[in-house]
Amino acid sequence: MLYVKAPAKINLTLDVLYKRPDHYHEVEMIMTTVDLADRIGLESRADGLIKIVSTDNFVPDDQRNFAYQAAELLKNTYGITEGVTITIEKQIPIAAGLAGGSSDAAATLRGLNELWELNLTLDELAEHGAKIGSDVSFCVYGGTALATGRGEKIMELPAPPTSWVLLAKPKIGVSTADVYGGLKIDGLEHPNTKQMITAIENNNYDLMCKSLGNVLETVTFKLHPEVVMIKEQMHRFGADAVLMSGSGPTVFGLVENEARVSRIYNGLRGFCEEVYVVRMLGERNPLA
Ligand code: ATP
Repeated sequence: MLYVKAPAKINLTLDVLYKRPDHYHEVEMIMTTVDLADRIGLESRADGLIKIVSTDNFVPDDQRNFAYQAAELLKNTYGITEGVTITIEKQIPIAAGLAGGSSDAAATLRGLNELWELNLTLDELAEHGAKIGSDVSFCVYGGTALATGRGEKIMELPAPPTSWVLLAKPKIGVSTADVYGGLKIDGLEHPNTKQMITAIENNNYDLMCKSLGNVLETVTFKLHPEVVMIKEQMHRFGADAVLMSGSGPTVFGLVENEARVSRIYNGLRGFCEEVYVVRMLGERNPLA
């Protein structure tokens, strides 16, 4: 069995510039991976089938699973006759704004590249990833990057200033399509993406905190007021800066001072079941 790590991502910025003629949104986002990860196991099978086995009942076990789609894409493109059993040990909350499904697909691409000896580069794997979903290309590389286009054009950035990251996920799932559908682009308050890049390049923690921004917050806040409440509480308990990740509902807080982390964690656990303390990974993913 070959094991591959599939880390979650958070958005340090998420901006929507306009709606394109092909109905996709033109986005500009800075994403970074954190050390909360699913574990993907890949085992070759002689019958040519693709099978999904998961520890989580909410993970689809058929073609709807992004990892399945990744395996099918490589199998068809490169004429692979063998099959694969994909075991997904889920740690990343589902429909949370943390790109769990996309990361599973990306890890499957990286792992099958090795298992099936395809010798593809990360760039080639990322190109395949874009056919599965907008966030899959980023997840192939991991690390920190500016993503543009519909999210598939990736420019690598250095590791962000080190900090603790607290993730809190209220007990709701959010549909990314619904949130984008509810977005009114006119009059949006856009995050300062350039300033965030400067903060990262200069390892400036305070400027990173000041530059966090996500235009989808207003839409998700209207649909799910409990997300606003979690954001306010994280601020109140002492996080340096707080933002919703992706289309939500997960909210993350940046905390530089280690002594403050457990106080914030305990405060949040009082009313939110799913709270995680993680670090940004900084580094790009290994090939597999
Ligand atoms: P993003 O941040 O990219 O919008 P997300 O974290 O909000 O993604 P996912 O956890 O990827 O959302 O789940 C979104 C939907 O994708 C789920 O409702 C689920 O049915 C489907 N899905 C497909 N494959 C997977 C997978 N491997 N793990 C989890 N969900 C998956």
